[in-house]
Amino acid sequence: MKLLVAVKRVIDYNVKVRVKVDETGVETSNVKMSMNPFDEIAVEEAIRLLENGTASEVVAVSMGVQQCQETIRTALAMGADRGIHVKTDEELQPLAVAKLLSKIVEHEKPDAVILGKQAIDDDSNQTGQMLAGVLGWSQGTFASEIVLTNSKVNVTREIDGGLQTIAINLPAVITTDLRLNEPRYASLPNIMKAKKKEIVEMTPEGLGVDITPRLTTLKVTEPPKREEGIKVETVSELVEKLKNEAGVI
Ligand code: AMP
Repeated sequence: MKLLVAVKRVIDYNVKVRVKVDETGVETSNVKMSMNPFDEIAVEEAIRLLENGTASEVVAVSMGVQQCQETIRTALAMGADRGIHVKTDEELQPLAVAKLLSKIVEHEKPDAVILGKQAIDDDSNQTGQMLAGVLGWSQGTFASEIVLTNSKVNVTREIDGGLQTIAINLPAVITTDLRLNEPRYASLPNIMKAKKKEIVEMTPEGLGVDITPRLTTLKVTEPPKREEGIKVETVSELVEKLKNEAGVI
């Protein structure tokens, strides 16, 4: 069984994101970038399936600027077998990523594609669903457990108020939720080994995909500043402030 895993390069989740002065987006120069946390979970799950003999090959795919190769190297150091980089300096929106992934699926013919449920930069939560739509494949989104057999996969989904387990046919698109697993750290020997693993470079033009953005960002602004908290001496003072200042009771 072959697995394709999509890994996006995003601003590291520990970094405090700053909005550009002209409000066209967020500052990414001189900012630490890392693999999208949900994609780390996707890579971890694929590698566990490789280690337990369910999968025979894991291919990590990233799309975007040259430095996406670092993100692919991280996946390779975790244990993926090889990488594919679709190189472009243009903005990639979820539909474009889904179309590019579908072209790679045509070449690679994987049994399943595992993606993060959402990228923490655009918070779109669209790519996996769009990919399943473009391919006409089954989808199991927000997975907190995946049980793969030869032709089927049981996906336990995190939904409002509980868990839902569905059985879907392979080939399928699966997106990962937070509780699926705890991703490993790559060991130094594996980081060294990853340097020798293959990364094939492709382009949107070469794959025949029009990546022109369909949505225009009008502006990006900071969330309103939170006011500093205060300490109150007594419960009655608290009640008085909640009533008369905050107006919440
Ligand atoms: P989104 O729909 O943008 O929230 O992204 C959902 C998932 O799609 C991410 O967690 C990744 O697995 C995948 N994805 C989105 N953009 C890219 C990209 N540029 N390169 C690789 N994977 C991506």
